[in-house]
Amino acid sequence: MRILVTGGAGFLGSHLIDRLMTAGHEVICLDNFYTGNKRNILQWLDNPNFELIRHDITEPIRLEVDQIYHLACPASPVHYQYNPVKTVKTNVMGTLNMLGLAKRVKARFFLASTSEVYGDPDVHPQSEEYRGNVNPIGLRACYDEGKRIAETLAFDYYRQNKVDIRVVRIFNTYGPRMLENDGRVVSNFIVQALQGKPLTVYGDGSQTRSFCYASDLIEGFIRLMNSDYVGPVNIGNPGEYTILQLAEAVRDMINPNADIIHEPLPSDDPRRRRPDITKAKTLLDWEPTVPLAEGLKLTVEDFRQRIGNAAI
Ligand code: NAD
Ligand code: UDP
Repeated sequence: MRILVTGGAGFLGSHLIDRLMTAGHEVICLDNFYTGNKRNILQWLDNPNFELIRHDITEPIRLEVDQIYHLACPASPVHYQYNPVKTVKTNVMGTLNMLGLAKRVKARFFLASTSEVYGDPDVHPQSEEYRGNVNPIGLRACYDEGKRIAETLAFDYYRQNKVDIRVVRIFNTYGPRMLENDGRVVSNFIVQALQGKPLTVYGDGSQTRSFCYASDLIEGFIRLMNSDYVGPVNIGNPGEYTILQLAEAVRDMINPNADIIHEPLPSDDPRRRRPDITKAKTLLDWEPTVPLAEGLKLTVEDFRQRIGNAAI
C-alpha cells in the first residue's frame, strides 16, 4: 500500500515509519520539522519506497495514497504551548486538510488523538465512554481542545462523507528518539540524570501517569488501522506511577547520587491518568508487553549514545 504519515519525522511517526517500511509498504512522510528531525528517518532517505516532503499541514496538499496516519502536532506541553495559536491551527486546519485528502482519494484515515481529551479526569481509570474534564480556556486547551475538535471532525467526515476513520487515544508514551529538549517528563529526567543535574519534579510529585513504551504503542496503531473498529480506542500501559516514583526509578538507574528537586506545578496539570484498555484487549487483542524498567533501560541507552554521560 501507499501510506502517508503526517508528523513522520517526529518521535512516534518515525517508529511507525520503521514498521511500515519493514513491512514493504510505500511510505510518504510529511513534516514541517517543528519538533521532528531528519535524523529520525535518515535510514530510509535513499530507499525507493520512501518519500519525504517538507510541508506544513495547515496548507492543503494533493497526494494519491491508500492510508493516512495523521500524527502531525507537537505533543510536549513545552512545544505546543510555545505557539498555541499554531497548535490550534495544526489540529483544526491541519486535520481538516488531511480529512479532505482522505475523502478525495478514499483513503483510510487514522487520527492520533490523546488521553488529554479526558483533561483532569474525575473518573479513574479512563474508559473511552468518559467525556472528560477539560478547561477550554486554559494553557493546555490549544492541545486538548484541539484534539477534541480533531476527533469531532473525524467523526463528522465519517458520518457525513463516509470517510473510513480510525481514532486512537494515546496515553503517555516514551522511548528512543525523544528529543533532548522535548520537555516531557521521561526525557527530562533521563537527560538531567545523565548530565548530573537535579531531577525536576513539578509539584509534590504525587500526580500519576501511565507510561507506554513506543514499540507497544505502534503495534496497537497497526492493529487498530487494520481492524474494522472505528474507535476511539485507548492505547497505553495501565501501569500507573507517581511522578516522584518515576524520578526515583530514573535516578536509581542512572545516578543514585542525583538530587530530586521540586518546581511549581504547571496550571491544569492532570492529577492522575491511567487507561482502561478493555476495548484494545477485546477488539484488537492488544496489550502492552514492555514493563517500565525494561523500556526505561532501552531509552536511557539511546540517550546515552546521543548525549554521553557526564554524571558518572
Ligand atoms: P513529536 O513532537 O515528536 O512529533 C510531531 C511531529 O509533527 C514532528 O515531527 C513535527 O515536526 C510535526 N509537525 C508538527 N506540526 C506540524 C505541521 N503543522 N505540519 C507538519 N508537521 C508538523 O510528537 P510525538 O510524541 O511523536 O506525537 C505524535 C502524535 O501523537 C501527536 O499528534 C501527538 O499529539 C500524539 N500523542 C503523543 C503522545 C506521546 O506520549 N508521545 C501522547 C498522546 C498523543
Ligand atoms: N513533569 C515533572 N518534571 C518535568 C516534566 C514534567 O514533574 O521535568 C510532570 C508534569 O507536571 C506532569 C507529568 O510530569 O505532571 C507528565 O508531564 P508530561 O509533560 O510528560 O506529560 P503530560 O502532562 O502531557 O501528561
